This record gives sequence, structure tokens and C-alpha cells, in this order.
Amino acid sequence: MSTKSHPTAEWLYEEVKKEIPNIRLGTVYRNLRLMKRQGEILELEQTGTYRRFDGNPANHYHFRCDECARVFDERVEKNTGFKVSHHRLEFRGLCRDCQTA
Ligand SMILES: [Zn+2]
Ligand SMILES: [Zn+2]
Repeated sequence: MSTKSHPTAEWLYEEVKKEIPNIRLGTVYRNLRLMKRQGEILELEQTGTYRRFDGNPANHYHFRCDECARVFDERVEKNTGFKVSHHRLEFRGLCRDCQTA
């Protein structure tokens, strides 16, 4: 929940393994599915090989870098009082690292 990197299940598995060495990838997937169903996390739409997850379930916009495929949060003001069920806007382009690379 604390990472802002929109991690893949595989990345989360490697992180959790540091604290729970005998955990299985299947357990990580199962918990991600459960957390998604309970609205605690979001699953981002798959555009590459890996699915990515978001520890912030509130509505916010994403920027996805075309070069490194990382996903960044874009802040959006929510002061309309509208009840938004979901959204699908995503900005694409090159992040700072990839512009200079
Ligand atoms: Zn990039
Ligand atoms: Zn996000």
C-alpha cells in the first residue's frame, strides 16, 4: 500500500519474500484478487506483459512512460462532489529519465 510505483505481482512477491521467505506467488495473486474485490487496491489495465496494481484505490490519473513502462500518479482535484465510479484517462509519453536517456 505504501509504494507509489504501481508494482507488478512479481515485484510484490519479491518484496514480501524478504519478510515472509516461504510465501508463494500464488498466495500473492490470491491476496491481490481479494484486495481488489474489497476495493483496497486497483488493478491497472494491462498494456504490456505484466499486470500492475495500485495501492491507492481513490480515483486519480496516470501517466505511463512509453519507454520504461513505469506508471506515475497525476494529481487531480476532486471538488465537484460528483460520484465517479471509474475512469479510463491515461497520459502517455516519455518520463524525465527516458527523455534524457
Ligand atoms: Zn521512462
Ligand atoms: Zn496510481
